[in-house]
Amino acid sequence: MARNESGLMEKLVSLCKRRGYIFPSSEIYGGLESCWDYGPLGAELKRNLKDFWWKSMTMKRDDIEGLDASILMHPRVWEASGHLTSFTDPMVDCKTCGTRFRADSLEAETCPMKPSKSPLECGGELTEARNFNLMFKTFMGPVEDESAVIYLRPETAQGIYVNFHNVQKPSRQKIPFGIAQIGKAFRNEITTKNFIFRTREFEQMEMQYFIHPSEDEKWFEYWRDQRLKFYHDLGINPEKLHLKEHGPDDLAHYAKRAVDIEYEFPFGIKELEGIHNRTDYDLSHHQETCGKDLRFFDQVRNERYLPYIIETSAGCDRTILVVLLDAYHEEEVKGEKRVVLKINPRLAPVKVGVFPLVKKEGMPEIALDIYHNLKKHYKCFYDDGGAVGRRYRRQDEAGTPYCVTVDGQTKEDNTVTVRERDSMEQIRLKVDDLVAEFRNKLEF
Ligand code: ATP
Repeated sequence: MARNESGLMEKLVSLCKRRGYIFPSSEIYGGLESCWDYGPLGAELKRNLKDFWWKSMTMKRDDIEGLDASILMHPRVWEASGHLTSFTDPMVDCKTCGTRFRADSLEAETCPMKPSKSPLECGGELTEARNFNLMFKTFMGPVEDESAVIYLRPETAQGIYVNFHNVQKPSRQKIPFGIAQIGKAFRNEITTKNFIFRTREFEQMEMQYFIHPSEDEKWFEYWRDQRLKFYHDLGINPEKLHLKEHGPDDLAHYAKRAVDIEYEFPFGIKELEGIHNRTDYDLSHHQETCGKDLRFFDQVRNERYLPYIIETSAGCDRTILVVLLDAYHEEEVKGEKRVVLKINPRLAPVKVGVFPLVKKEGMPEIALDIYHNLKKHYKCFYDDGGAVGRRYRRQDEAGTPYCVTVDGQTKEDNTVTVRERDSMEQIRLKVDDLVAEFRNKLEF
């Protein structure tokens, strides 16, 4: 298993708070369980990850269109999708302490009164298991009665299904083609833990690929391979990524075939993304519930049919956790501990740190010039405080891949030192070459 031995999760959570990546929501009020806020570095990292996904799914392809559907949807959507009846987890209550647990993972849960024991071992009496619907409910409009009940979407996918024709017609896409969407989803999870791994509010990056039913196996396997490659391209250690095919008993109510891309988290091997063959389950149920013909007329086949759908459903926040866990390294450098986030430079929140070696002899002025020029292209950080070694260490912890230092020689030959984060190697480059040099390394 991964680096559990050294308390990796605790160290990462502490670094995220210290460096402004991620911290508890509403912290001045004691925090809100399972809700997290992304600070300056976290917000940049998340934006870069979403851009990376969006570009690979839409801009670099001709067969996938983007969508941004609303979070609140007609309540009948959730009737048709099966969420009202089937989007449940089994739960039990402890009659002694009143805590609610997921009935299917009791051995992994912790008794709040006897934290060394699970609810199966602590002696508390548990109720029978009951199903608990995970959708958040609220009311739309000024009257709070049953007819005004509305749900926060538990997945972004339904926004894509109900808009299948709205997207297909203006874009003139032909089957096979896909619709991609990034957005918030909400699940009233019974238990949440492990930082941003399982939260009640999270972002998904989903793509639904519409195909002829006879080609479902081919496209399922294509997307399984493409999605695994995406994590390799992000720079995630391939040895920690696994594929897990679902057996017939594990399949969700809508799926004919499913595979999870899993990662070796410090707390176990867990799902990072799901790839599902949803057949025509969603479109046929929406067609039946709304009474409109949702079939597609395929001119090549001269056939009208409900397409099958291959879904790729990734968690944005869960991927951020994987990126950070995978990047966290502690090294010994000249007798001192160096903490470094070896994030793929293309994803890194700050790309270049710019420093004058000392705060005199005109060096800050030159460094500021370079900083202002570079920041037209990349997110940069200017720092002239303290010893340069300390400034490097701060950028190492923030995951900044390059640092540019102006020194005495700069005035003579217009060159600077460029230090690379992972190898700590330093080379001299001409100031005029910096933009082009970084462009090669940072664009995706
Ligand atoms: P799990 O078994 O972990 O609850 P799931 O099978 O319910 O996940 P899907 O419905 O397939 O998950 O959702 C797709 C992706 O959305 C997951 O692979 C995960 O990355 C992300 N995701 C789902 N639920 C949560 C959550 N509560 N918090 C953070 N991310 C989530």
